[in-house]
Amino acid sequence: MNPNHYNTIILGGGPAGIASALRRRKRGEKVLLIEKGRHLGGKLDFYEWEGYRWDKGPSLFTLPALIDELFQLYGKNPKDYFNYKLIDENCRYYFPDGTHFIFHSDPIKRQESLADFFNEAEVKSVENYIQKIGKTYEAIGDLFIAAPRRGFKDLFKAEILKQYPKFASRQMLLSLNKYNERMLKNEKLVQLFNRYGTYNGSNPYKMSGLYSMIPHLELNIGTYFPVGGMRAIAESLSKLAEEVGVEVRCNQLTKEVTKEGEIFKVNLGDSEVTADQFICAIDHVSFYENIMPDAQMLAKHKDEERSTTAVVFYWAIDGNYPEIGLHNILFSADYEKEFRQLFEDKVVPDDPTFYIHNSSAVEENAAPKNGQNWFVMINAPAGVQPTDEELERLRTQVKGKIKEHIGIDLEGKVLHEERWDMARIQKDTGSHMGSLYGAAFNTKTSSFSRHGNKSKKHKNLYFAGGSVHPGGGIPLVLKSAKIVDELIEKNG
Ligand SMILES: Cc1cc2nc3c(=O)[nH]c(=O)nc-3n(C[C@H](O)[C@H](O)[C@H](O)COP(=O)(O)OP(=O)(O)OC[C@H]3O[C@@H](n4cnc5c(N)ncnc54)[C@H](O)[C@@H]3O)c2cc1C
Repeated sequence: MNPNHYNTIILGGGPAGIASALRRRKRGEKVLLIEKGRHLGGKLDFYEWEGYRWDKGPSLFTLPALIDELFQLYGKNPKDYFNYKLIDENCRYYFPDGTHFIFHSDPIKRQESLADFFNEAEVKSVENYIQKIGKTYEAIGDLFIAAPRRGFKDLFKAEILKQYPKFASRQMLLSLNKYNERMLKNEKLVQLFNRYGTYNGSNPYKMSGLYSMIPHLELNIGTYFPVGGMRAIAESLSKLAEEVGVEVRCNQLTKEVTKEGEIFKVNLGDSEVTADQFICAIDHVSFYENIMPDAQMLAKHKDEERSTTAVVFYWAIDGNYPEIGLHNILFSADYEKEFRQLFEDKVVPDDPTFYIHNSSAVEENAAPKNGQNWFVMINAPAGVQPTDEELERLRTQVKGKIKEHIGIDLEGKVLHEERWDMARIQKDTGSHMGSLYGAAFNTKTSSFSRHGNKSKKHKNLYFAGGSVHPGGGIPLVLKSAKIVDELIEKNG
């Protein structure tokens, strides 16, 4: 048997690539996972400095069962590899007029804290909203995220027709913002729920109200935090991959993939490996542009509107500030303008909303005793690299807002800074234009036109990951790996 021939080769060692490799290996295949970086994990990367530890990318973790499932696939106890805790405190919100509250996942605590700033009808509207999106998700969520991409012709399939009242309801027909305006009785609550549009890097004033289902995962199912930080997801899955015999090559640049007859040939520069099946788990635009050049597919997908990128500052904070929870949001005054600037003007917003993730609030060893590890994230337009002046302006704005709204003076308190931005995200992870979640979902039909999980041109070529169906974010990319595995089985 040729040692350089595999049943399946997977390109890209992010969560989608690792999950795809594990699933194919479980089918008894000889599997090779190729990653250009120094270790597996993709955007689940990390920084360390003098006892401070930051997760570079994802910070919000939902649906841990999708990770557990990969260990269970091999009859392992997930707890022997990967542990996580349920976090009740969903997020701390700060509004420009001084309104601030903790938004809890627990309905009783949530209603109590909202009651300090909102009247009874407004609080009730939040509870009704959360219940309603739960029902919608139960009815139709999996039709979209657990199955191959739907086409327009699928709209007439029985399983979809049955759910038509929900699927074609005003949730679908209105924008997320309009839907939220109808459902919620206060503009701050509308802003709060519009924010979930950013979970796939999209514009809540354009995307379908169907995406109101996103917070269901956090608020009805739960928000979690992995013991050891988000990096523990990649580390534990990498360990499993090694144990079960997935062949992994890190620091491996892939020059080109070609198909000759039924065989995929992968040019690694100084050697070549071949496979019967190939799974692309990198951004599909980068793939069509650089790895398996395809002018037609590139033309189709390259100019699709991208989801946002980000500027992330990783700050080593001197001091302990209990006011800063695990997840914190400081909102802008004009949210609609912020999204106009992100998607139409394509500039870094002049008054951005920003997010602080402080894992030292729940993990002692994430920072030294008298310090905190802040991850400060600002959404930015895909493809636009902020200038040094803009970066400095953002630092000043963030510090100013924190002083004004939370009362923390950061003067002299940022001991060290690292940064991720459009150009670095693009270079490090291969994401086209540095976008965090592939194409944006900014039209009512975006999920139907997203790149699917199987090539229409090349037999046995599949796609998993954040740029393709069903979308970005850890839970969805894990679903994409499962969909690909099932498609391969169906074809086989
Ligand atoms: C700042 C930030 C915040 C985020 N926040 C969240 C969050 O809170 N929650 C959440 O669920 N998601 C979040 N995400 C999104 C999430 O990280 C992605 O959706 C997810 O990592 C996508 O997984 P993937 O496997 O498709 O791709 P990636 O994680 O991007 O991995 C792709 C891998 O492919 C490798 N690669 C690329 N090109 C090549 C090549 N030519 N040869 C070999 N290897 C290659 C890259 O090095 C990389 O390791 C965030 C992302 C960022 C950047």
